[in-house]
Amino acid sequence: MKILEERILREGRSLPGGVLKVDGFINHRMDPMLMMAIGEEFARRFADCGVNKILTIEASGIAPAIMAGYRLGVPVVFAKKRRPSTMQEAYEAEVYSFTKQSSGMICIDREFLGADDRVLFIDDFLANGNAALGILDLMAQAGARPVGMGFVIEKAFQQGAERLRERGVRVESLAVIESLDDCRIRLRR
Ligand code: 5GP
Repeated sequence: MKILEERILREGRSLPGGVLKVDGFINHRMDPMLMMAIGEEFARRFADCGVNKILTIEASGIAPAIMAGYRLGVPVVFAKKRRPSTMQEAYEAEVYSFTKQSSGMICIDREFLGADDRVLFIDDFLANGNAALGILDLMAQAGARPVGMGFVIEKAFQQGAERLRERGVRVESLAVIESLDDCRIRLRR
């Protein structure tokens, strides 16, 4: 997706440890016009899959997911990283966080995920795929069907896409980073 790629090259910063900083338009300050274009692109790519629910994880997945949900006309559910006292029955999975370098739980209220759901998972980044695998775990518990996963940015030098495709999941990434070596951002075009 050209406007996203241009934005990454112009404003992204390559940090040590293979981390891409895009705080200026995705992870801290957000650009609603770019987010809408991202949502439209996901909706176009997954238009033929019979999606009836979008899942994401708080916080940075919510913006692209809500835009895609708006375009596809389906509800958006975000997995929470803390279980609130109001959530009585939940599906839970453990996820290792690439950016925090520690494990934590994600959870979804059982009321909002079930066996009739054909789910599109949307997230900001695909790195090693742990967040996405945690979501697949929650879906398996609920009997929901994963029809695809869409990522705003995939880092191809990490194993996430491979691990998901091995499990038969359709993966679509709007920008693919080949490498962040020597503090340079190299995109796959
Ligand atoms: P994974 O579970 O695929 O290893 O990592 C995905 C999650 O880690 C994303 O939801 C994102 O929040 C975070 N993440 C992974 N790599 C990066 C990165 O290079 N930059 C930023 N800003 N977040 C990342």
